[in-house]
Amino acid sequence: MIAALVAIILFPQLLFANKMKYKKFKVCSNDTVSYDIGIVLDNDLLGIGPAARARLHNVIIKVRIDPKSNLAFPTFRKECEINLTYLLAHEMIHCLQAKKYGIMKFNPFRHPEFWKLEGYPEYISRKSWLSSKDYSLTSEIERYVSLENKATDIWILTGEGGCEFPDYYFKGRLMIEYLMDIKHLSYDQILKDSVSENTIFKEMIKWKDSTKKIEH
Ligand SMILES: [Zn+2]
Repeated sequence: MIAALVAIILFPQLLFANKMKYKKFKVCSNDTVSYDIGIVLDNDLLGIGPAARARLHNVIIKVRIDPKSNLAFPTFRKECEINLTYLLAHEMIHCLQAKKYGIMKFNPFRHPEFWKLEGYPEYISRKSWLSSKDYSLTSEIERYVSLENKATDIWILTGEGGCEFPDYYFKGRLMIEYLMDIKHLSYDQILKDSVSENTIFKEMIKWKDSTKKIEH
């Protein structure tokens, strides 16, 4: 019984009626799998967040999706929409974390601090936007600070399709981005580093303020 349950959790594809192979992906769904999903899978998926789960090599999307408009529709906190590519890439990075560092270090019960756990997938999934010309990390830090000031709890509206996420998704992404792109640390080094979240956040704000001064 337990073995069967574990098998279903780790290999949920057994439960789905419809399957489609697309390049290196296998898509399983209760609904008929449309080839539109291929567009999303093709579309800069690896170059470039949670209504979904990652388990071993599987990503499970638990909400309605529209591959044509590249959107997923979370309902957990309220109805909203998120970029399906970001969502898939985010969950795939969780698969990668578990594969590289081991399921014993990356699982729902044991994992690094939330900003390190969620910040990295958020950073990687948005990579193409983050490296675009009109993107500014300092403006994004300022946007986060103003959202945080307005928030009454950890849930903040990130501005992407009206979805609210716990603050460590956005904050974590900014901190990972700062550590990797400005301080040139690797994710390995970030995971091993014992400097507190608060200390790094303050340091990042100082960096942002000094950069702004130079710009003006
Ligand atoms: Zn996540």
